[in-house]
Amino acid sequence: MRFPWVDYVVSGEADLLIGPLCWDILNRGRDIPPADLPFGVFGPAHREAGYPAASTRDLVPRAVIENMGDLPLPDFSDYFAELNASLYADRIHAGLPMEFSRGCWWGERSHCTFCGLNGGSMTYRQKPARQAAEEMIEMSARYGSSRIEAVDNILATDYLKKALPRLTALPEKLAIFFEVKANLKRHEVEKLAAAGVRWIQPGIESLDTRVLKLMRKGTSSAHNVQLLKWCRQNGVRVSWSLLWGFPGESDAWYAEMAPLLPLLHHLQPGPAVRLRYQRYSPYHYTAEKHGLKLRPAVSYRYVYPLSERDLADQVYYFEDSEDDDVGGHFAAGSANRRPGLSAVAKGIDAWLKAWYEPKLSMLSMRDSGDEIIVEDTRAIAVEREHRVRGLAREILLAADEGSPETRLREQLSGTNVMQAEIEAAIADMIARKLIVRLDARLVGLALWHPYTPIPPMTAFPGGYFDRRAAPLGTSRE
Ligand code: SF4
Repeated sequence: MRFPWVDYVVSGEADLLIGPLCWDILNRGRDIPPADLPFGVFGPAHREAGYPAASTRDLVPRAVIENMGDLPLPDFSDYFAELNASLYADRIHAGLPMEFSRGCWWGERSHCTFCGLNGGSMTYRQKPARQAAEEMIEMSARYGSSRIEAVDNILATDYLKKALPRLTALPEKLAIFFEVKANLKRHEVEKLAAAGVRWIQPGIESLDTRVLKLMRKGTSSAHNVQLLKWCRQNGVRVSWSLLWGFPGESDAWYAEMAPLLPLLHHLQPGPAVRLRYQRYSPYHYTAEKHGLKLRPAVSYRYVYPLSERDLADQVYYFEDSEDDDVGGHFAAGSANRRPGLSAVAKGIDAWLKAWYEPKLSMLSMRDSGDEIIVEDTRAIAVEREHRVRGLAREILLAADEGSPETRLREQLSGTNVMQAEIEAAIADMIARKLIVRLDARLVGLALWHPYTPIPPMTAFPGGYFDRRAAPLGTSRE
């Protein structure tokens, strides 16, 4: 209504209707009667006849693709023709964006409170696993690039069993990126790496289980640390962020998180990012329940000459009008008000800095059967080398699996070991900074030697522009 110069709008997924629609518009112009337009398409005549309502949350009808398997492969031939004729041809290492699913299978069960990614189409739809694998192979051959960037919100669970074996068997591996649910298991990370999925974006989002519960993430701090460890072990690069600013979070939780961060310098860090409120997220549609008074993010006012009310109907990002720290980033001025968060922000900065040092920190171990030798080059290391035997070795092995502490104590006391000895051995491993206690679990931090180097930034499956025209693969981790 506010943009009368726009003739037609497709609400939702236009893949199958856009061709016939354009043909119809070319032949009939602006005056196609609403009844002749496909579901989800609005035209000038709707301004007079009125817009239809639907049962979606924002009452806007949406065109939805039910069967992803019906969608054609993207045609990038004009892009590659232009690229090959370009002066930059030898510097651009193109990736192939591909889509295998829409919606989110986790969000269908437990919509993450901050997420508005799927609009009104959370229902998960995916291409069959075998079709997905064959399409990756075909596109790679067609365009001569092994880089595949899946644009999906979340990897389909059956791809692990049904798509990856085909890719693992390829003589020349593809280089694949997927967004994944963070609850992957160790053997699943191994499978991904073996199939060429060497870059992932898991929804880690926090290293505090209470914050993760607030966002209904369905994972825990212990599991997130384990995932970072398995990815480093298997040479899988991880893109992730530590989100903060959730309604109901306590600064004390961040104060407890801060001492954990220096222990993780051998794992991959993610930046600390302030939560933003998105349209279609639970925080948006149940704002009141979360004590939020949302208004359109202030930057929109500089773009659209609309009233606050019209902006609220249209924009994607919102701010809490009662938050005195709106605008995004944690400022030095907020440090006094939130000392815990301030400590985490500093801890993340130090972690990122350590990650970009010429030589990466490492914490790794080898087991000879009766002794584990641990090498530790982290800045926080108590010793450069630890020799761990007997009861402490048993604890270190169990902690590698993130064992619940009560279960481990029961197992060990069944071997006639006194509780006091177990207590002392656990305390010793924690004091040596080889394990941490998280969510009532003991989590081992060391990788097994040998481990696989993670791919360099130049290997990003979405493509890479070589500014210096340096040979690929010369960059460090
Ligand atoms: S954040 Fe990710 S897992 Fe959560 S609902 Fe959104 S897409 Fe799904």
